Amino acid sequence: MIFTHATILTMNADREIVEDGAIRVVNDRIDSVGKTAELIAANPADDTIDLSGHIAMPGLIDTHVHTAQCMLRGISECGAVGAFSNWLFGRIFPLQGSYTEEDAVASASLCVLEMLKSGTTGFVECLLAEHYGIDAIAELCIDSGIRAALGKVVMDVSPTTRDELGWHHGMWQTRESSIEGTLAAHDTWDGAGDGRLQIWFGCRSAEPANNPSLFREVSDLARERKMGLTIHLAELPHDNDYAREHGYRSHIEFAEGHGLLGERTVLAHCTIADDADIRLLAETSTSVSHNAGNNAAAAWGPARITDMLEAGVNVSVGCDGAPTNANMDLLRDLRIACHTARQRAGNRGALSSEAVLEMATLNGARALGIHAYAGSLEVGKKADFITIDTDAPHLQPVWNPVATAVFAAQGGDVDTVVINGQIIMRDRQILTLDEGAILENVKGRFRDVARRAGVDGLTSTWPSV
Ligand SMILES: [Zn+2]
Repeated sequence: MIFTHATILTMNADREIVEDGAIRVVNDRIDSVGKTAELIAANPADDTIDLSGHIAMPGLIDTHVHTAQCMLRGISECGAVGAFSNWLFGRIFPLQGSYTEEDAVASASLCVLEMLKSGTTGFVECLLAEHYGIDAIAELCIDSGIRAALGKVVMDVSPTTRDELGWHHGMWQTRESSIEGTLAAHDTWDGAGDGRLQIWFGCRSAEPANNPSLFREVSDLARERKMGLTIHLAELPHDNDYAREHGYRSHIEFAEGHGLLGERTVLAHCTIADDADIRLLAETSTSVSHNAGNNAAAAWGPARITDMLEAGVNVSVGCDGAPTNANMDLLRDLRIACHTARQRAGNRGALSSEAVLEMATLNGARALGIHAYAGSLEVGKKADFITIDTDAPHLQPVWNPVATAVFAAQGGDVDTVVINGQIIMRDRQILTLDEGAILENVKGRFRDVARRAGVDGLTSTWPSV
């Protein structure tokens, strides 16, 4: 199959942009990339798909996702939320803790559908709770065609601390069962779906409720098994207070002291990282997931992304949770990442369209550990790409296709998605999932979850009449 007549952002070493370009796909791989006329001449018997007017580029990789939170889209904007702990223990945990397996799969299906339809071809789920049921979510990912690293929760919170905090029992597990459950999921699912699925450790945060000895055990296990590991880290100033209580200068140095940093680790946020932290992240080849939209909405940060990139840190991009960010549209978050980085620096050149697209493709692939075969459109790599149809008023004219993709396009402009050589979406029609059924399923159950959880006030502050 040859995809023809596109403007191709190859993201190869020279970052070549091929005008009137074509991508030839054989099985799951890119067989050739070049000028349309040359590829057709060399392979006259191949079927073709005409992508005239489209920008083609590597699939986007979202390195920080809470699939369970898509059914809670926008609830941070309902009434007064208050402090982060109120938000977490009073709202998010009771709701997610009350999920049945069917609720969790409904939310994850919505999340995967939204990601695919907005051009995300691979993602890191950071905190998959035991009661969501890993098997059905793994099967969903495999059937949908997406690439996924599913971080299954590990925690060590004592029952006394749990009850003092009002930590919802549904969101709680013992240390032993959370580790055993993750290792069992790794045995069953890692590498499934022709290698598209990975099982990672999804560590609960380094904060007072969690026993810090957990982190050394989990990071040792991750190294032994060559597993990825992800954790929310260095989010708010009180994280550094916690680190100091444990004899460390900063939260990131605490993480290093407990074995958490390394090339198979993705840290979410890092909004309070300072110069020394940034050096440490670079030295340890640790990946950072920058969550620009979520952080801006939650008034966190802004993270020092341009300093991190300059220091050689592998910074990728994530949408985080739908309660606050409300969208899993990574194109939108790329734009917000540029806006906030420039505002922070007082310099409109601070984060270019080109740099942020590297974060979402090449750096994302490195964070997932799949950079040997994903993240760019080059011969021999997996055929993972998306196209944006620029035949729309908000996308014309196209001066710089990179800027058009990052600054003008929205998730809804993604027309075609190919992952592992399989066409997942064409003309915005998802071929692997039943979009209508997913939407109906969520609409039929989201209010029931709130009723069961006993959480109310999830409406506008304006009166409903
Ligand atoms: Zn998060």
